[in-house]
Amino acid sequence: MRTPALILAALVAAPPLAGQGQAPSPAQQAAVRARQELFRAKRVPREAGFRVFIVPDMEGMGSAVDIHEVIAGNEGERYRTLTSPDYWDRFRLLLTKEVNATIAGARTAGARSFVVNEGHGGNMFANVLPWDLDTAAILVRGFPKPLVMVTGIDSTFGTLMFTGAHANAGSPGVMAHNFAFDSFTVNGKKLNEVGINALIAGEMGVSVSLVSGDDVLLAETREMIGGDFVPVLTKRAVGRMAAITYSPARVRSMLRTAAAEAVRREMRGQIRPFTMARPYRVDFTLRASYPDSVVTAVAGLTDFKLEQTGARSFRLVTDSAREMGYLLDTIEQVVLR
Ligand SMILES: [Zn+2]
Repeated sequence: MRTPALILAALVAAPPLAGQGQAPSPAQQAAVRARQELFRAKRVPREAGFRVFIVPDMEGMGSAVDIHEVIAGNEGERYRTLTSPDYWDRFRLLLTKEVNATIAGARTAGARSFVVNEGHGGNMFANVLPWDLDTAAILVRGFPKPLVMVTGIDSTFGTLMFTGAHANAGSPGVMAHNFAFDSFTVNGKKLNEVGINALIAGEMGVSVSLVSGDDVLLAETREMIGGDFVPVLTKRAVGRMAAITYSPARVRSMLRTAAAEAVRREMRGQIRPFTMARPYRVDFTLRASYPDSVVTAVAGLTDFKLEQTGARSFRLVTDSAREMGYLLDTIEQVVLR
């Protein structure tokens, strides 16, 4: 994901939460909760055979190093000048081809059903080109969506794969960040975006079998969720917006091979879902770059029983990782107004 995703959420949220500096009213919060629950019952069509859920992001994909390559420019005022349509357009196609390569690889190992949920906030979570996507894939696109990066996943999936993922906020990875946070931990353990979503999926019994991204992302994700997944090293970070890269075709070839191996590992039962002890103690610190009004607004999210633990820090104690996912969706709508 990427910050603009959050902005988008604010733009298209229905109903809108309060503006910056205003805590959303209980009625506004209840309406957001109602929307989350409404879509909870909706599932992607169920299909026979081994099912793969794929979350493609852009920052960690092959060749991408610069924010202009992953932003469409329609995500909010701040992002207008951060795009170059020529770049973004080209990278959409590369993104789509990475997803196709992942599907093709998984298919050779026996996977038969594929759901792709847009994980990147550029262009309002609509970057994959539907007309160029493998025709077997069901595509979840647009924003806001209740579980953001894993909206649509359920216990019928055999595995979860992350392509083009990026490293955690504060790390030396390419375009590193983590939702709206400078820090995010569960039971004291740091989680990046892959880790957070792995926990939500793990609660449904679904494990992560493939992660692609830069070297920093792969190392930290192994540390967080264990090393059972098949890694795909798309590039080596040498700066926040610089990397040693491969040909896109070579990255696709690696994805094909890795996805096949990932499905085989899952079928052999060699990958454990990522779980943590309950209740989950979720501690997060809002980005220092946000105005104080954002802190006030998050403090006003009474629907979530948040405890403020520091100037910009909060704690949620919950037995449900899904609840944590709903909180992420709601915070995104608050932060970016
Ligand atoms: Zn992203």
